[in-house]
Amino acid sequence: MAAKDPVIITEKGEMRNWSRKIRSQGKTVGLVPTMGYLHQGHLSLIQEAHKHSQLIVVSIYVNPGQFSPSEDLSTYPSDFHGDILKLKSVLGGVDAVFCPKNLYDYSNNSKQKNKNENENCASDGGGWVVSCVEEKGSGHETWVRIERLEKGLCGKSRPVFFRGVATIVTKLFNIVEPDVAVFGKKDYQQWRIIQRMVRDLDFAIEIVGSEVIRDSDGLALSSRNVHLSPEEREKALSISRSLVSAKSAAEEGQVKCGELKDLAVKTITQAGGRIDYAEIVEQESLEAVEEIKSPVVFCIAAWFGKVRLIDNMEINI
Ligand code: AMP
Repeated sequence: MAAKDPVIITEKGEMRNWSRKIRSQGKTVGLVPTMGYLHQGHLSLIQEAHKHSQLIVVSIYVNPGQFSPSEDLSTYPSDFHGDILKLKSVLGGVDAVFCPKNLYDYSNNSKQKNKNENENCASDGGGWVVSCVEEKGSGHETWVRIERLEKGLCGKSRPVFFRGVATIVTKLFNIVEPDVAVFGKKDYQQWRIIQRMVRDLDFAIEIVGSEVIRDSDGLALSSRNVHLSPEEREKALSISRSLVSAKSAAEEGQVKCGELKDLAVKTITQAGGRIDYAEIVEQESLEAVEEIKSPVVFCIAAWFGKVRLIDNMEINI
């Protein structure tokens, strides 16, 4: 049954006005940023947002700033109409969907645009980090960096990823001006980075982390799962299985991280996955630990065919 029809907003000025009007009435706004192709994991964030704010904005925007030119921006799945249907039926509903076309288009400055296009293409060859935003020559050159936290885990193999995430989240915060924003712990490092950014830059926004939602067989839900063949999907279950095994081994007293990681790497590799990283880190600093003495999170990224999956599990001992 349809809960309510959200208003669909594509222009940033209109989004800001909507939000300001709501907040001027004394109501709170919660933001759930997404890249679309929504699944139950995204919808769980909306339900979480309802606990913290009165009106909910879901943003749908595939952010070119967090993809390097060699990554999967062009094949990132989308289904706008399907997404809207899901948002209409989610428990408690959604008040507004913000789906801008291009958040890096600053319009009527095409001379500057073309100039930067050439400069930035040249910089790619010079070994600088380049995202699809510079590659397309949009003229955008301001980036938010969380200098230490962005370097480890996913940051090692995706050097433009977190500056792209932090920058687009900053832009969304400035456009939507929410009171609360909800992020999934599925992207654990991302959640911690946004928390740190909000603290360090004094955003007056509460950041909420929401639990990982999994399929009944344990696979963490992800928009990218649609690209897995049935065989790859079966093999990919090795990630969540090894996380569960490591967690129970740790709870039974096996606290040496080297051994826990080796076992997970072996299980995933034997299943046919290619490990990007398997790290056990402290939950806030994301510093690697050798022995589990306090709460940690076991984070894994692995490739199955052309699909890179990430997953994690908190171990609270
Ligand atoms: P994405 O559309 O992949 O950028 O994700 C948008 C938000 O949904 C992020 O905060 C993700 O962490 C969150 N999310 C994605 N998958 C899941 C999941 N399986 N469980 C919980 N949150 C998720």
